Amino acid sequence: MTKVIFLADRRGGLPAVAPGALPPAGQPALDLRARPLRDLRISVTDRCNFRCTYCMPREVFDSSYSFMPHSALLSFEEIARLASVFTRLGVEKLRLTGGEPLLRKHVENLVSQLAALRTPDGRPLDLTLTTNGSLLARKAEALRQAGLSRVTVSLDALDATMFQDMSDSGFTPDDVLRGVDAAAEAGLAPVKVNMVVRRGLNDGQILPMARRFRHSGHVLRFIEYMDVGNTNGWNMAEVVPSSEVLARIGQEFPLEPVVADAMGRVAERWRYLDGGGEIGLISSVTQAFCGGCTRARLSPEGKLYLCLFAHDGHDLRAPLRDGASDDELAAIIAGIWAARGDNYSELRGRNMADPSRKIEMSYIGG
Ligand code: SAM
Ligand code: SF4
Ligand code: SF4
Repeated sequence: MTKVIFLADRRGGLPAVAPGALPPAGQPALDLRARPLRDLRISVTDRCNFRCTYCMPREVFDSSYSFMPHSALLSFEEIARLASVFTRLGVEKLRLTGGEPLLRKHVENLVSQLAALRTPDGRPLDLTLTTNGSLLARKAEALRQAGLSRVTVSLDALDATMFQDMSDSGFTPDDVLRGVDAAAEAGLAPVKVNMVVRRGLNDGQILPMARRFRHSGHVLRFIEYMDVGNTNGWNMAEVVPSSEVLARIGQEFPLEPVVADAMGRVAERWRYLDGGGEIGLISSVTQAFCGGCTRARLSPEGKLYLCLFAHDGHDLRAPLRDGASDDELAAIIAGIWAARGDNYSELRGRNMADPSRKIEMSYIGG
């Protein structure tokens, strides 16, 4: 039987927002809380070759699940055109994600189109990609040649059995580590390694991961397990607060904070006192950072989402395919961003209109 829960969300549409005024030259678009539009995350596919239990549990994402047909996806040219319009509104950073972005055929061709874009004052964009690493060893060089700046690789465990339990895939931690090495060799550095921590599952891997990535030149980042989507059965008891991660690592390897970063940076940075490098803590649950959230998200079929926890997005594919000019697209996006007030993580558990209708992480990317 075809599953319809999530498809119903995807088909829904938000009411049209009146086109907005473009920001003054050189200024970013601002939302209702004066947050600038700076980052665009582009999900290029809703498919994945892993079935991480917290993201695409196999019971839901099985052979009867309806993934998007290729015809529904934005083409690379359409993505690049939209990205170029977004740069006029303040976007300086692009991240390709998914699903698994390296499953999208010839994704390096998209990377080269995006790498050619410039900010209004002529600067290249920061162009990155988040991947599960399984195909990275064979793709890293082509991605670098195409103009990718850096890469983030997800890795939740070094222990092979634990990795298997969490990713529910046929791959091993060594496959992912080969991808990390290949990325660093290709110059996609520093490589960030993201670990989602779940209490009672992989929290015993915090120290082995810290030991493995100290002095490696890569930056290990610990992510609090989030209540994204409707399929992972999230439970607060499984969240390991970043403060606890920090305390556990600090007992073995003393750390000090790195000075706070610019608005829009979500990771709190700490460095080892002995010069072993840095770690990052992403505390989406215990320390909401909505006040500095400068991210827009574009889904594979061209819907614009204003929050990772949104119920629905604004269709940009229709005006794009109906022949809207760049100025018209920019005005539509400016109007949508101007009306943005999202702050889900600040409200978590309170005032949610319908918490059962959130989009899935594998559709919109992290
Ligand atoms: N497939 C790619 C990957 O795994 O890196 C890109 C997409 S994945 C959705 C992006 C990131 O979201 C990954 O680092 C993943 O670990 C993270 N993620 C997925 N579900 C999550 C959850 N419930 N809580 C926290 N992070 C999550
Ligand atoms: Fe796939 Fe990434 Fe989700 Fe894991 S986290 S199932 S690798 S999209
Ligand atoms: Fe941004 Fe939404 Fe996350 Fe808050 S909950 S930081 S608004 S994506």
